[in-house]
Amino acid sequence: MNLVVANRKTFRGWLEQPASQLIDHGTSCCIGARAWLHAMAASYAFRHTDGTAIAAPTFLSRRYKWGPTAWPIAWCEAVRANAIDCGVFSAFAREILSAQGVECYSAQVMQLFGPETTAHWRQRWADQPVAFNWIDKELVYHEVVIVVIGDVAEVFNPSDGQWLSPAAAAGYGAVVAIRSECPRSLAWGRHTLSMDKWILTVPGISW
Ligand SMILES: [Zn+2]
Repeated sequence: MNLVVANRKTFRGWLEQPASQLIDHGTSCCIGARAWLHAMAASYAFRHTDGTAIAAPTFLSRRYKWGPTAWPIAWCEAVRANAIDCGVFSAFAREILSAQGVECYSAQVMQLFGPETTAHWRQRWADQPVAFNWIDKELVYHEVVIVVIGDVAEVFNPSDGQWLSPAAAAGYGAVVAIRSECPRSLAWGRHTLSMDKWILTVPGISW
């Protein structure tokens, strides 16, 4: 498979983009927001899916709609939102998993989708003038969560409550590149993830 990036400036922006961080006011508003998130997580039954060792907070994608977030955003504002973007989903999932003693980190991926899908998303994000440009013609930038099990990474996508496969080399939603924030090297399928390094999971992306 040979992927061609339509917009080089967009792609360079992805390479340089750090993973999203929520603002913490350090006062009762954000402390309360986190406590509320934990209480909500506790009220949902966690299910093991796809034979994975970790039960992930799949309820997040049922509780929140996926949509534009105006950044920067604080914990106390984010928990009250109806729609949140993948950066907020990732922060929420890490907060919940960490509280349960699961070692997890933020991760960024590039995923392959068709031009019809990306055109639709571009339209949905059009009203968000300061939004980071996460959409190219066929590729999109997305934020997810790495769960560490020994030396192995499992990649959870809290925006839709699914685990991402390292083996899907092509096709709708396939991960074509990934960057991990875990300070150790991790195996993800046949790939080796190193901290802060974009790893291509397909033969080549040209830009
Ligand atoms: Zn706050």
